[in-house]
Amino acid sequence: MSGLFRTILGITLFALAGCNGAAIDSPPPAEVGQAEVVQPIATEAARPAPTPTQVLTPPPPPEPIGPTTFLYDGQLTQGGWIRGQAPGGTVSATLGGQALVLNEEGYFFAAFDRDAGPSATLVARLQDGRTVESPMTVSPRKWNIERINLARPRGKASEAFMVRRRPELAQINAARKADAPSEGWRQDFIWPVKGRISGRFGNQRIYAGVPGSYHSGIDIATGRSGTPYVAPADGVVTLATKKPFSLEGYLLIIDHGNGLNSAFLHNSKIVVSEGDMVKQGQYIGNIGSTGSATGPHLHWGLKWRNSRLDPLLFTGPMN
Ligand SMILES: [Zn+2]
Repeated sequence: MSGLFRTILGITLFALAGCNGAAIDSPPPAEVGQAEVVQPIATEAARPAPTPTQVLTPPPPPEPIGPTTFLYDGQLTQGGWIRGQAPGGTVSATLGGQALVLNEEGYFFAAFDRDAGPSATLVARLQDGRTVESPMTVSPRKWNIERINLARPRGKASEAFMVRRRPELAQINAARKADAPSEGWRQDFIWPVKGRISGRFGNQRIYAGVPGSYHSGIDIATGRSGTPYVAPADGVVTLATKKPFSLEGYLLIIDHGNGLNSAFLHNSKIVVSEGDMVKQGQYIGNIGSTGSATGPHLHWGLKWRNSRLDPLLFTGPMN
């Protein structure tokens, strides 16, 4: 039994050694008539004589490291997200046709917009030409829709307003596309501040059949202005306005890497500067009511690329 085991083990080890370029270490091919002299050992006899073709063939590529299929975890629902690892040997991967960014170990982040459809598929293209697909169901949410039998308010679309607004939007778009180097996207997010949730993500009013824009973040009220709040995850500050924007007031944007970023609106004070690297839990600003706000609160918006996400699905309920 143990002899058999040794034999199998010996063959296994021999096979492994063969993968590591044994042909280069082997003696040159025996000339005709000398074979019995140079191959006295049984195991040596089992080794196929190297041929010139074998010597010239480059070693096979290393076996890909990683899972054989997609591994992921997260919140598979509208406004939710997934974090996972692509199959070993993945050259490129997509979710719903959108290219994913993989880190060195093949880890990725992806998310589902507030209005995402009921299904999505992860697709990996492997270095050996194969394709691995992982379909998933994205559950719908029951958004709080309020129907109002009045015409939609006209808003501030005057030309005078837009003259001020356009450069603000340009700064916001640039900050959200900064693509800063951060691994904050790999962390479990924490609440920036605790208080009463005074507005939920996704709420929407429909004015006489015409939908208004939905609430793009979560509102947290502590009952007063000036309450400090912290970074929900590591990141890089990509916008810290020096003056209040017309709607957002003092606005702070933090890039968590891999296309994921947080915006904090209506600050009374921002205590970090553009380019700063912040750590999860670090004090970054104070709640206020600057810009378009009816009272002091923190509006926290989360985006992955162009998808708007529900912060509640990153932190879990507030305890
Ligand atoms: Zn809000």
